[in-house]
Amino acid sequence: MKYLSTRGDKTPLGFSDILLEGLAPDGGLYLPAHYPQVDAPTLARWRGLPYAELAFEILSLYIDDIPAADLNRLVHATYNVQTFGSTAITPLTRLEGGLSLQALSNGPTLAFKDMAMQLLGRLFEYELGRRGEELNILGATSGDTGSAAEYAMRGKKGIRVFMLSPHGRMSPFQQAQMFSLQDANIHNLAIEGVFDDCQDIVKAIGNKLDFKRRWRIGTVNSINWARLLAQVVYYFAGYFQATTSDTQRVDFAVPSGNFGNICAGHVARSMGLPIGQLVLATNENDVLDEFFRSGSYRVRGSAETLETSSPSMDISKASNFERFIFDLLQRDAARTAVLFATALSRDGGFTLAPAEFERVAGFGFVSGKSTHADRVATIRDTWQRFGVMIDTHTADGLKVARQHVRQGTPMLVLETALPAKFAATIHEALGREPERPAALRGIEDLPRRFTVLPADAAQVERYIETHCG
Ligand SMILES: *Cc1c(COP(=O)(O)O)cnc(C)c1O
Repeated sequence: MKYLSTRGDKTPLGFSDILLEGLAPDGGLYLPAHYPQVDAPTLARWRGLPYAELAFEILSLYIDDIPAADLNRLVHATYNVQTFGSTAITPLTRLEGGLSLQALSNGPTLAFKDMAMQLLGRLFEYELGRRGEELNILGATSGDTGSAAEYAMRGKKGIRVFMLSPHGRMSPFQQAQMFSLQDANIHNLAIEGVFDDCQDIVKAIGNKLDFKRRWRIGTVNSINWARLLAQVVYYFAGYFQATTSDTQRVDFAVPSGNFGNICAGHVARSMGLPIGQLVLATNENDVLDEFFRSGSYRVRGSAETLETSSPSMDISKASNFERFIFDLLQRDAARTAVLFATALSRDGGFTLAPAEFERVAGFGFVSGKSTHADRVATIRDTWQRFGVMIDTHTADGLKVARQHVRQGTPMLVLETALPAKFAATIHEALGREPERPAALRGIEDLPRRFTVLPADAAQVERYIETHCG
């Protein structure tokens, strides 16, 4: 399988070439040259495979430059009961009618990002080892992404993580989760400032090409194709659990931010998995809901981006969205570049031509939006009627799913985090504390390992220099 850029660069690259990369050199995102088609006999063969075997089958269609035995070993080391808490890995919980939750948040950091990041850590370690190279991952986090990255990379050979977070501003649980890691290759840098300061420092260092090259600085952001690919697997796993035959259709509802999770659903559907609707749910930050209702994509400024009780969906633009638009435009890279390189920076957005927007329906997308009041009501209702406690992001998904449920078609709502991470809203909805997995009880009392630094890129650079090698 070769990979190409959504903006037209056709240098043929293999999976291993793009694994450690961010954007393509032309500013586009990497996609496979085509989506391998999965026919009925293949679906029949995959039904009933354990999760790791299913992952191996799907990944093998996209990765032909890692020996099969090695890839097989990596996926089995990732998707097992020790890491994800059950043999199903992403088990379903039935609510009512055809409506179910698919659990993606039983990994080490209790959010769905573990599903991809745990594999990414092993792929990075493998590829760096093969090349005899090292990588220093530099990132900024307000919570979820940083902890998923640290738990994926801890103890991995050839990799160090330098994770910037706003000092004293993460929730006590998130601080405990990240700062209690004692691994020598994990560096928590608590920056005296807000999240934007952290992000500005990462950007400033990212722009210093000399420093970046010298210290082999990389990232693990959500545009990484390997992360998306890992996420494709659970759409198949959910489908097989919700159906008994390979001709049935299933709808998925996905709490969305950067369009990574649901983009994996788009890939699975494009491969021929019988997905009917892809229901995109946003919170009050409704850039994507607006697009799917109107055909207009309008990026928000930071003043317009709200802080909500489903914070991992608080986005101003959706970094994976270009991948879907490229497919929607029948892979017209020139038109994609006009929209994302030219119009976005000039006008802050774009509106599709009517003939382009009409095609969206053929990709199964519908959308809706959920507010804080909806989250609280949905969390309460789900607890009272089913005895199931859900987190705020999953509540957004469930709220919007209900608007699109179709008689006779199963609807799987992707559960993207556990309620333990969002105690304040759970308390508001239920008047009680969220349940917490046994392994995480008392983590607030563990010793902490972090370094406080001023919001100054030069000091962060000095820290990296003195802790590399
Ligand atoms: C990251 C995240 C999301 C959004 O996923 P995208 O891939 O950015 O659309 C939703 N819920 C939770 C809990 C997350 O951590």
